[in-house]
Amino acid sequence: MAGNHFCSCPLPGEWMKGKVIGSGSFGNVHIAMNKATGALFVVKSAVSCPGLQSLENEATILEGLSSPFIVQCMGKELSKDSNGDRKISIFMEYMASGSLSDVAEKFGGALDEEVIRLYTRQILCGLKYLHENGIVHCDLKCKNVLLGSSGHVKLTDFGCAKKLKDMKNKRGLEGSWQSVGGTPLWMAPEVLRNEGLDYASDIWSLGCTVIEMATGRPPWSDEVSNPVAAILKIACSNQMPRFPSHFSREGLDFLDKCLERHPKWRWTAEELLEHPFISGKSVSNSRIDGSCSPSSILDISGMYDCDYDSDEPGSFNEDESLHINRFSTRHCIQRKGTDSRQQAEIDLEPLDNWITVRSAGQF
Ligand code: ATP
Repeated sequence: MAGNHFCSCPLPGEWMKGKVIGSGSFGNVHIAMNKATGALFVVKSAVSCPGLQSLENEATILEGLSSPFIVQCMGKELSKDSNGDRKISIFMEYMASGSLSDVAEKFGGALDEEVIRLYTRQILCGLKYLHENGIVHCDLKCKNVLLGSSGHVKLTDFGCAKKLKDMKNKRGLEGSWQSVGGTPLWMAPEVLRNEGLDYASDIWSLGCTVIEMATGRPPWSDEVSNPVAAILKIACSNQMPRFPSHFSREGLDFLDKCLERHPKWRWTAEELLEHPFISGKSVSNSRIDGSCSPSSILDISGMYDCDYDSDEPGSFNEDESLHINRFSTRHCIQRKGTDSRQQAEIDLEPLDNWITVRSAGQF
């Protein structure tokens, strides 16, 4: 893992704090200026627990990361506040357009599907990088994706993030405990059921984030009226959050792959980057590609069994739907062929503790 070595960290006294530009469960985020260079950055500070713990975790995780799809941490400062309590501040690059929730709000709530594809591709690149480096983000949602001025997005808020290897090691220690945080409406069923945490949990949250971008509302907001009902529905039912009715078939298929209830069957970030919704390969391109062409009539019948309900409303003709099903079938075949690999890779981490829910007000 390439670390960013906390480059360009402003020295104490060489920067000044500006206005609050955002707030989270731990406290406020301020804009700041480096007096020596005039450059802008942001400062997140926390004094008391659990904010302190969350920011320390965020700094530790970000310290080891370097990716164009992850917000850059420039450094941290440990100090004492006026009451003598421990205080931590972390300095981060400034993402001028704020979070995707802020952006969506400026455009009437929901985002256009073409833009959602662009943003989702970059979020997936960020997730792929994190997962390759053994990290689960654990709190993916529009509020935790930041937009730069030129249209690029980056993942932020690593307060709940987990290093899976560390969790495995700690599990062996007597008396060790672990807790998993996140925002319940975006959390995967297996996490809410306290059955395990894996990279697949982020993929479920990605599906929820795509719904949020497309509708301007949190997932499940049409179906549930209170937090307890929400947790029960996500954890214990067989339902998925409602998909945006105006989405393309490719978009709906993409959501299907993210919001698969069993983590073992969910697509990985790497696989999702190849999905037509993201790759931009149109239905006719995958026809030309031929990589998933049927080798016999049995393959074709299998295609129709796999994913789409033929009763589903839509304006696609038979030819087009065949090719969409072909794409879905590639997935089914691949899954069957790699079942044991998946089994070994998934290796769900049992969690010793029930979840610690941050952002409890955010149902
Ligand atoms: P949560 O409520 O999810 O726990 P949090 O307390 O960890 O959130 P953040 O999500 O990191 O806080 O930040 C809160 C808000 O501050 C963001 O939604 C965004 O509007 C703003 N913000 C945070 N970091 C930056 C940044 N680097 N550049 C610009 N705005 C930022």
